[in-house]
Amino acid sequence: MPFSSLGLSCSLLRAVSARAYLTPTPVQVAAIPAILQGRDVLGCAQTGSGKTAAFVLPLLQQLENVAQERARQPRALILVPTRELCAQVGQEIRTLAQHLPMAIKVSTLFGGVSINPQMMRLRGGCDFVVATPGRLLDLIAHNALSLGGVATLVLDEADRLLDMGFAEELGRVLALLPPKRQNLFFSATFPPAVQALAQTLLHEPVHIEVLPTPQNLPDITQRAIAVDTHRRTQLLRHLIGQNHWRCVLVFVATKHAAEIVADKLRKAHINAEPFHAALSQGKRTQVLADFKTERINVVVATDVAARGLDIAQLPVVVNYDLPRSAVDYIHRIGRTGRAGESGVAVSFVSASTLAHFRLIEKRHHLHIQLENVEGFEPLETAVEGAPAPSPGSGGIKGKRPSKKDKIRQKSL
Ligand code: AMP
Repeated sequence: MPFSSLGLSCSLLRAVSARAYLTPTPVQVAAIPAILQGRDVLGCAQTGSGKTAAFVLPLLQQLENVAQERARQPRALILVPTRELCAQVGQEIRTLAQHLPMAIKVSTLFGGVSINPQMMRLRGGCDFVVATPGRLLDLIAHNALSLGGVATLVLDEADRLLDMGFAEELGRVLALLPPKRQNLFFSATFPPAVQALAQTLLHEPVHIEVLPTPQNLPDITQRAIAVDTHRRTQLLRHLIGQNHWRCVLVFVATKHAAEIVADKLRKAHINAEPFHAALSQGKRTQVLADFKTERINVVVATDVAARGLDIAQLPVVVNYDLPRSAVDYIHRIGRTGRAGESGVAVSFVSASTLAHFRLIEKRHHLHIQLENVEGFEPLETAVEGAPAPSPGSGGIKGKRPSKKDKIRQKSL
C-alpha cells in the first residue's frame, strides 16, 4: 500500500518521499488513517517499527487543517521517557514538517540541562511539545507553558515511562490536560500497570499490534559465542579487528562496567566511549553524534541505550553482559537491523550465564547455536539444566520490578 492511499496531504507526501520512506510500515498503515479520523489508538509497537512517523504525520496534518486558528499554546503533547527519545521525536517532527505551507514550532523539553534556554524558547508559544514528564512539570510550575490547548496527547513508550518511575508525574500532567482530547498510547509491552493506565486514558481505541519477535525482527543475524568471563574484552577486540566492525554498540550490566570496558578498548587503540545515565546530557549527546559520524567506533552502554535510540545503519550489537530480562534482549538487538538495514547481534555466553541465556531463548522460542571462536574456547564449564542465574543478579526478570530491579535501574 502506498503512502498516497493513507489520506495524507500533498505537503506530507512530499516530506515522506524527501525522507526516502518508500512504503508505509505496518504500524503506519494501521495508525495514520485512524489518527486522522480522530480516533484514540492503542499501539503495541516498539522503536524500529516506524511508530514515530505513524503519529507525527497525522498530527502534522491535523495542525495543517487548523492552521488559521492556531493559538500560542501547544496542540499536541508527546510524553517520552528519555532525553534521547525526546530529541529524536523532535527531530522527526521538524523533518516531516519541512514542506508544510506554514512554519511550525516544536519544543523539546527534558531534564539534565539548564531550564532557562527551554523557558526562553517557549516564550513565543509552540505547536508541539515533546517532553519528559519531570521537566514538563517544572516548566509549568515556572508558568512557561500551559497545557490548556492540547488536543492530542501521545504517550510514547508508556511501559518505559512507568518503569522509570514517572507514574506520579504522569498523573500530575494528565490532570492538567483538557478532558476532551485524542489519546495515542504506544508501548512495547503491556504489564498490568500499563494496561491499567491505557484503560483509564483511552476511549474506544483502535488496537494496533505490531509485535516484534526475534524471529521477525528485520534481517538480524543472532549469534551466541561461548567465552570465559575474563576473556570477553579480548574476544571483543578480536571480533572488532577481524570483522572490521566500524560501528558497534556493546551492552554491559552497569555504568562501572561501561567505563572499564571502554577504557580497556581505548588502551587497545579502539575509539570507544561509555554511555550511561551518570554522564552529563552534553556528553551523551556528543557521544551519540560522534558515533553516528564514526568518530567513535564502539559505544559501551548500559540499558539506558536499549530503547528509543535510533542510529540508522548500526550494523552490530554485542551483549557483553546478557540483558537481565528477555524483553530487554529484544530491545537491545532491535538497535540493529533498523529501517530495512541488515544487522548482527552477538551475545557472549559464559559458563555462569549459559542457563540464563537458555531462558531468554526459551522465552522467545529461539535456538541459537553456541559458537566457539578459535583461540577463545572456554575453559570454565557449565552444567546444562542448572538453575538460571541472571548476569549478576537473581533469575530472569518477572513482570513486576523487584527491589533489585529498582536499585539496578538507578545504577544504569
Ligand atoms: P521508529 O520506530 O519511529 O523509531 O523508526 C525507526 C526508523 O525507521 C527510523 O530511522 C525512521 O526514520 C525509519 N522509518 C520510519 N518509517 C519508515 C518508512 N515508512 N520506510 C522506511 N523507514 C522508515
